[in-house]
Amino acid sequence: MNISLERALKAHDRLISSTPGFMPKEEGLALAESLYKCEKFPQFPAIEIGSYQGLSTIYLGSCAKMKGGVLITIDHHRGSEENQFGWDYHDPNLIDPVAGKMDTLTHFRRTIDLADLTGSVVTVISDSQLFAKSFGGQIGFLFIDGGHGSNPAHSDYNAWVPKLVLGGTFAIHDVFEDPEKGGRPPYELYLRSLEDGFIEAATLGSLKIMTKVSK
Ligand code: MG
Repeated sequence: MNISLERALKAHDRLISSTPGFMPKEEGLALAESLYKCEKFPQFPAIEIGSYQGLSTIYLGSCAKMKGGVLITIDHHRGSEENQFGWDYHDPNLIDPVAGKMDTLTHFRRTIDLADLTGSVVTVISDSQLFAKSFGGQIGFLFIDGGHGSNPAHSDYNAWVPKLVLGGTFAIHDVFEDPEKGGRPPYELYLRSLEDGFIEAATLGSLKIMTKVSK
């Protein structure tokens, strides 16, 4: 790993350990490294779908800061299906009692402030497909880690993969070949990308790094 990036992330070690999320450290480091190696960034912006409380944003945002680029991170901050009441990944402390809904925005914002990333990270509070309709440009890097149900995962792919430039990087989290280990949709996105002109550049745990090599 690049030594300056390693140093920048090491400085956030305590913040990384104390930020709730679903990104093991080794995978977070591999994610940051994939943005570091992305040849189309910072010429084109990087997109993260699924900010939650900002754990993976620390990894990507620190790299964006180092390369002088912009990371746009998108989340409605109302929690994915799997974060709602009654599901495995629900945290009752994240319920806004007035709205009666989940709200991860305050926590996310705190993380980005503490990581000193407000100058490199654009926070978009929106459904990612809605935002895609208003975003006419091209992107150099795409990380999909939003809703893991079939509809949200495939809709994110449909909305954002066409905006990725040739030579750009597509990172997918929670890809499990074995159905016993995890849900199917992220794995389906991985298979779709192989059919859509991507090649596998790296794998670490459930993180797949793909490069777009043809249209
Ligand atoms: Mg994930």
